[in-house]
Amino acid sequence: MLNPSAYSLTHLQWKDLLVSEGHSSHVLSFWLDGLYKNPELWARHVSQDLIQNLKAKFNFDLPTISKTQESEDGTVKFLVRFHDEMEVETVLIPFHKRFTVCLSTQVGCGMNCSFCYTGTQGLKRNLTAGEIVGQYLVAMNWLKAKNNLALNPSIVFMGQGEPLHNLTEVSQAIKVLNDTKLIGVGHRQMTLSTVGYLPGLKNLKDFPSINFALSLHSPFEEQRAKLIPVNERFPLSEVLPALDQIPLLKRQFITYEYLLIKDFNMSDEHVEGLHTLLGHRKAILNLIPFNPFPGSKWERPGIEEIESFKEKLVAKKLRVMVRTTKGDDILAACGQLKVNKFARNNGIY
Ligand code: SF4
Repeated sequence: MLNPSAYSLTHLQWKDLLVSEGHSSHVLSFWLDGLYKNPELWARHVSQDLIQNLKAKFNFDLPTISKTQESEDGTVKFLVRFHDEMEVETVLIPFHKRFTVCLSTQVGCGMNCSFCYTGTQGLKRNLTAGEIVGQYLVAMNWLKAKNNLALNPSIVFMGQGEPLHNLTEVSQAIKVLNDTKLIGVGHRQMTLSTVGYLPGLKNLKDFPSINFALSLHSPFEEQRAKLIPVNERFPLSEVLPALDQIPLLKRQFITYEYLLIKDFNMSDEHVEGLHTLLGHRKAILNLIPFNPFPGSKWERPGIEEIESFKEKLVAKKLRVMVRTTKGDDILAACGQLKVNKFARNNGIY
């Protein structure tokens, strides 16, 4: 069996480990600098015995990048490969001089959403905390190699997989990513997007307090279930009250993502339904024009339709944003991630 990843421990866990093995905690910062910055630093400050001891217990390999695609708008999509040849996609999205890193949490996904390219793949396996952190590290290393320093990168857990279906590993990955002695991405710089996986939502007691987003896509249960089949098991009537339990800071909101699908979920009834659901909640409604993928049965609405829908919602005093689509020329946009033969054979990979 593979040893646990060295990138799955927080600095306090490293400290406990070093002390429990009889080492002074003094060596901790040198050990961590070597691990996250430059292994040559170990040579001067960390004993060979300790290095060999820890190398025998942990796996220090990062995942590899097996394919990189760069979009015209600067979005970069990586095909990231793990030790067992399983692959996921990780996306770097530029925004002014900053980057958002979109991480996957599972290989494939078991939620089977009908608008999502990944959902057609089924769930292959959960990623470990080390593999989730590893995606971030390889994306940052890629930027560094291009002499591009990512200032204050943000993280979204919106890649492949339902993060709350892999709660323990995602929670641990967030702790490592947030650890200021290791990586130091702020809590408020991280957002987890869920389709409303209720067992996870009800189990957030010890979960780090990051931002949450719900894939809403319709205010009506039956219609939402057509897009998100798990809505039948975990209906909005139970998911929204569970989301209401998440403690929010004064200026913090839950984001409700709403795919705009032509002739499907943009009528006046939908405006009314959204107002009923969200009017009294601390909510931001994030409108996302649908990103078509090969074989998808849905279409993207035109700009005028999008504007008109948005204005009706604003008139209802809802907080509304329209997300600009990035990376859709390389299928890196929301709901388009998937690794499969179809894509490869069609020149997408
Ligand atoms: S939208 Fe998210 S939860 Fe739904 S199938 Fe795609 S990856 Fe899974």
